[in-house]
Amino acid sequence: MHRSGLVVTGLAVAALGMAVVAQGPGMRGGTRVAPGQPCPPGTTETRPGNCQAPELPAPSILDYRPKSTLVTPEHLVPKAKFPVIDVHGHPGNLTTPEAINRVVAEMDRLNLGVMVVAENVSGDRLTRTLQALSASPHKDRFRVMSGVDFRNVGPGWAERAVAQLDADVKAGAVGVGEISKAFGLNIRKPDGSRLKVDDPALDPLWQAFARLDVPVFVHTAEPQEFFQPLDYTNERWLELALFPSRRNNQPGQVTFEELMTERNNVFRRHPKTRFIAAHFGWHANDLGRAAKMLDEFPNVTVEVGAILYDLGRQPRAAHDFFVKYQDRIMFGKDSFQPDEYPYYWRVFETTDEYFDYYRDYHAFWKLYGMGLPDTVLKKVYADNARRVIKGLPRG
Ligand SMILES: [Zn+2]
Repeated sequence: MHRSGLVVTGLAVAALGMAVVAQGPGMRGGTRVAPGQPCPPGTTETRPGNCQAPELPAPSILDYRPKSTLVTPEHLVPKAKFPVIDVHGHPGNLTTPEAINRVVAEMDRLNLGVMVVAENVSGDRLTRTLQALSASPHKDRFRVMSGVDFRNVGPGWAERAVAQLDADVKAGAVGVGEISKAFGLNIRKPDGSRLKVDDPALDPLWQAFARLDVPVFVHTAEPQEFFQPLDYTNERWLELALFPSRRNNQPGQVTFEELMTERNNVFRRHPKTRFIAAHFGWHANDLGRAAKMLDEFPNVTVEVGAILYDLGRQPRAAHDFFVKYQDRIMFGKDSFQPDEYPYYWRVFETTDEYFDYYRDYHAFWKLYGMGLPDTVLKKVYADNARRVIKGLPRG
């Protein structure tokens, strides 16, 4: 992990956009700092208490791409060991035979047996997808979730939302989702106030999921770093610098902790409703907190979409967590980029060490394999999804 520290220092220098002043051989003294104090920007600690700037200009966060010299066994896993159900599918439009065939060809390559389409659409848009799929020879490779429109929550909203949910489930939806992060972050009520995740006006809807025996797949909040100041200590500095809409750190904005409290209030208030917390509930960086959530709320399961960088940097703790909570975790990928799935297979199935993740802006660190046992893999890959989402194809 010392290596990461070095990288961060390099990154921070670059991020400052400073042209580091080259020091000649006669000026190698550097800057002294008191014990425990950080080095000034543009320098790194070369001896205890002594900070020095590199003689050469430091590369930027984007351009520093060291090649690892580590030689260690590599086990690439292009295809999952067991057939997988992806509960967090965003395959795009599936209303034509060509689009369906294209996605199925990629699924075959990866050993994805079933994709649960979680595009949060309802009514006509939902039925168009359901019709296209039922006319396809590949109908048993997909199931579809419906959506909820959280705009204009007020008198009469819950009755309309529940009626729409009834109709969507009757049409063939196997649940609802993915309810987007906008719910909680920025959807407003007609009076202009933020629609809180635990707004009591929504209670009849959460109850309806229990009555219909379908799960609700909810994405609440964002990685906690997105709510923190955008400075050079932020692990997601690059992502936040790239995507302004992910900066949830403005004064007056809802905080990560407020959203977690609201979400947990809903989990607590509706114990008979099955909730799937997208992205591990954003607790993959704090597995103790994830454990607390799963212990407190037996009606909640999690999926692993877009948090592989947190599992893969703590492979031993993640392994033990997956063994302990093997009935509560499901595979989900989120963004449908077929080339990215094998990174998940490799982290879950192998004990490979120190390998690259697929997006530098998510994680500048390396991944390690968790080496999960087959019994756990089978549950995470498919069996848990079959239990939580009724009506998934067998086998
Ligand atoms: Zn998603």
